[in-house]
Amino acid sequence: MKRKITILPGDGIGKEVTTEGKRVLAKIAELFDHTFEFEEALIGHDAIEATGNPLPDETLIALKSTNAILFGAVGHPKYDNDPTLKVRPEQGLLKMRKELGLYANLRPIKLFDELLHASSIKPEILKGADILFFRELTGDVYFGEKGRKDEGNTAYDLMIYHRYEIERIAHKAFKAALTRSKKVTSVDKANVLESSRLWREVVQQVAKEYPDVTIEHQFVDSAAMKLIQNPRSFDVVLTGNLFGDILTDEASQIAGSMGMLASASIGDTVGLYEPIHGSAHDITGKGIANPLASILSTALLLDISFNLKEESQTIIDAVSAVLKNGYRTVDIADASTKKENILNTQAMGDCVIKELSMVNVPINE
Ligand code: NAD
Repeated sequence: MKRKITILPGDGIGKEVTTEGKRVLAKIAELFDHTFEFEEALIGHDAIEATGNPLPDETLIALKSTNAILFGAVGHPKYDNDPTLKVRPEQGLLKMRKELGLYANLRPIKLFDELLHASSIKPEILKGADILFFRELTGDVYFGEKGRKDEGNTAYDLMIYHRYEIERIAHKAFKAALTRSKKVTSVDKANVLESSRLWREVVQQVAKEYPDVTIEHQFVDSAAMKLIQNPRSFDVVLTGNLFGDILTDEASQIAGSMGMLASASIGDTVGLYEPIHGSAHDITGKGIANPLASILSTALLLDISFNLKEESQTIIDAVSAVLKNGYRTVDIADASTKKENILNTQAMGDCVIKELSMVNVPINE
């Protein structure tokens, strides 16, 4: 298979972890006899410094003609500490999602058994939890009309959803549920919000087209509680942009570390794959960032964008083997980890690649 993959390293540890993700993709190409052509483009703080624009036109042009995108993260303390700055790194990310029509964010929350201890939740509550979030990504308060009035003393962000936006992501969630345990939990706040009442109405209508899937509705406050109380009661979770933003970060604690979770943003064309963590300035440049979320993002990329199921599973198996062999980055290490098994970013990448090198790939006639 011949495919073009655009790498957007972005800012902070985004650069460090995507380097390892790219190496893993190159190794998979070598092992399975594919041709992956890589190109890099600017986004975020680095793009503002170089061009004044967090998503330069050249980047957007490259993204519109590529087959898949591996993204790192954007963000810089300069902007976090000064909310008055008008041009901001995250504008690049929001614009990219909108321009590429990436309306569905998929976040699989699955814990490797070796990391049960790394979560703040008790292992007996956690073991076996396997959740797939579908978060709507291009609507809601983030994209509704916003502004200030009363000389700046009143601020508003419009929470807005259109029927078509709910329909298209609901179909994706129900289709995914058919391949899993055939249950969808839709999360909203329909007791108080009109946009949530439309959300629930549309989800109920879409559900009729999937009679084999059980649909359940939960209010976001109750879902936030149950996620910690009984994570195994969820399978596919379907929710809007704001609620999804908060719930998926909460759910990331199930996996113990931000450094372990991958996500996919998809629409009807190109897919974008990224770790769920940000640019982590507190550890940037120290070489200690965990690259496994970026590496697991490459597994999602191969599965969803290229339908390369075996290649994808090979990466997940390699990560699992590395953890089983006791190797950790510092964020997932504990008192039982041998000192010599605590690896830096590049060494963890090397370890995954070494595991991949031991895979016997059947030769297709
Ligand atoms: P963060 O995810 O960058 O970091 C949160 C904490 O988790 C930090 O202590 C960090 O050291 C740790 N961490 C994150 N990823 C890790 C990894 N791979 N290995 C080991 N430890 C890891 O979130 P934050 O600190 O709230 O935000 C930092 C910057 O990132 C901000 O500028 C924010 O706007 C940006 N951000 C960007 C994205 C994105 O680009 N998608 C997402 C979230 C935050």
